[in-house]
Amino acid sequence: MPHLAVNDIHANYGALAVLHGIGFEVDRGEVVSLVGPSGSGKSTVLRALVGLTLVTGGSVEVDGTRIDYAAPRAVKAARDRMAIVFQQYNLFQNMNVLRNVTLAPTKVKGRKRAEVEAEAMELLKLVGMEHKAQAYPDELSGGQQQRVAIARALALKPEILLLDEVTSALDPELVNEVLDAIRRLAGEGMTMLLVSHEMSFVREVSSKVVFMDAGRVVEAGPPDAIFDAPSSERARDFFGKVL
Ligand code: ADP
Ligand code: MG
Repeated sequence: MPHLAVNDIHANYGALAVLHGIGFEVDRGEVVSLVGPSGSGKSTVLRALVGLTLVTGGSVEVDGTRIDYAAPRAVKAARDRMAIVFQQYNLFQNMNVLRNVTLAPTKVKGRKRAEVEAEAMELLKLVGMEHKAQAYPDELSGGQQQRVAIARALALKPEILLLDEVTSALDPELVNEVLDAIRRLAGEGMTMLLVSHEMSFVREVSSKVVFMDAGRVVEAGPPDAIFDAPSSERARDFFGKVL
């Protein structure tokens, strides 16, 4: 049984249908990447998984249990199991790094601060930010802030981490430190669904690549196959432009 199964999901913004039946599976410990042209629906898939955009058809299963996005409690359950990190890291500016990471577990989960702080320091270590635990966001570079945002997302112990272009807002020299943090998470066996324009990174870190266009999956497979020998004209055209 796959860890995450996305079966033929549909989604729309008002009258505009944007996902026309998206399906793929993610196994435990696997990194799967969604690639495709701007506007193809990659962000919408990630948003739909955590209940930010309504799934109007199809189904999503985590460990074989279907998430009913129409039920508020189910959306909460989905967010317990999956966490999303965006391009814009949006740390709480008035709190230091450590508090940014411990806030949700203490406030949302009601856990003891001391116990959560020990875990938060481990997460900060994982993303190479433990030396800045007492710093405030405005004292950090964009790459450092994004690494803190990833640690913050992990603080609620999600099973699946969704990363939506987390390096796209960064200056080029700051991209690698964030990619390194993601690499380390992959090495730790974190299950991830990744959207990134860093194609060489996608190729290196993913076990499967899903190529989307216009709200549909055009083809999916191992990165070498998708990048070197795409079977569709649309994927060939896309990779011809971005590689
Ligand atoms: P991608 O992440 O692949 O660039 P998106 O999922 O952001 O694609 O967008 C898919 C489609 O949905 C695009 O046509 C986009 O214009 C549209 N869209 C995205 N967000 C909204 C929104 N909040 N309201 C209306 N349309 C949206
Ligand atoms: Mg997007």
